[in-house]
Amino acid sequence: MSYWKQRTISRRVSCTGVGLHSGAPARLVLAPAPPDTGIRFVRADLGVEIPARADAVVDTTLSTTLGAGDARVATVEHVLAALTGLGVDNCRVEVDGPEVPILDGSAAPFVYLVQEAGIALQPVGKRFLVVSQAVEVKDGDRSVRLEPARELSLRFVADFSHPLITEQVFGFTFSDRSFAREVAPARTFCLLKDVEAMRARGLARGGSLENAIVVDEFSILNPGGLRFPDEFARHKVLDALGDLTLAGMPLIGALSARKSGHAMNQALVRKLLETPAAHRVIRVSGEKELEPLQIRLPALALPGTP
Ligand SMILES: [Zn+2]
Repeated sequence: MSYWKQRTISRRVSCTGVGLHSGAPARLVLAPAPPDTGIRFVRADLGVEIPARADAVVDTTLSTTLGAGDARVATVEHVLAALTGLGVDNCRVEVDGPEVPILDGSAAPFVYLVQEAGIALQPVGKRFLVVSQAVEVKDGDRSVRLEPARELSLRFVADFSHPLITEQVFGFTFSDRSFAREVAPARTFCLLKDVEAMRARGLARGGSLENAIVVDEFSILNPGGLRFPDEFARHKVLDALGDLTLAGMPLIGALSARKSGHAMNQALVRKLLETPAAHRVIRVSGEKELEPLQIRLPALALPGTP
C-alpha cells in the first residue's frame, strides 16, 4: 500500500525570506533525500549538515534551534511540521543563513513548496516511533504528555491569561483531518508587550504584522484578523508537531499539552527517547521490528530551571 512507503519530494524547490528572530535574509531549498536518511538541515553557506534530531537541539528560546559545531539553524519547527504533516520522511532542507525564513509565520508556504515539488514514494517501508508507555514533563501548571495510541493525535490547551487566549483548545488526529487545511495556515503570535522585551534581547528583529499575529491588551492588531477563531491553539499544535519531528521519525501516540512551549516539547522528546520502555521502532510492510532506540542525550534545562 503506497501509504506505507517512505516519501521524499520529487525535485528541488526554493523560497527566500527573512528570519523572525535574526531578521537575516535566507534562501531555503527543499531537496530529495534517500530512504532512511530522515530530515537533514544543511547550512549551504558553511557546508555543514545537521540532522533534524533531538540530540542536535542547542536552543529552545522562543523557537527551536539546531546546531553542529559552530553552525546553527534557528526556527526549524514550521518547516518540520509541514514535512511531517505531509508525511515526508526524507528531505534535505538547505538554508544559506542562520535561520529558516519565517514567510507568513505559518507552515502553509512550506506546504505549498512541497506540493509544488510533488511527493515521491520510495521503495522502502515507513518507520514509526511508537509510544508504548506514557511520558510526561511538567512545570507548574504547564505540562506535555505522550500516551500510547493507535495513531498520531495532538491536543493543545492555550491559556495566556489574556482575554482573547483563555482556555483555547484545539485537537487534531491525523487519520481523519487535513493538516494542510486545518493546521498549516495557523500563524505564530505574540503579545505586543512582549515584542519590545524580545527586541531588547535581540529577538523578533524580522517580526511584523506580515508574519505574526500581534495582540495588544484587547484586540488583534493585524488588519485581516484571524484565519481561525482558535488560531493560537492551532499554531501551538503546529509547533508541537514540528518539535515532535525531532524524535527522528514519525510518531504514533497521543500528545496532550497545556501551555507548553518548545523547551518542554524538546524535554518530552528526549524523555521518550531516553526511556527504552516508552517507545519502540517499527518498520511497516512486513519487515521485522527494529531494536528499541538506546539514545543518551545531554541535559537540556527546562524553563524555570537555572
Ligand atoms: Zn511557531
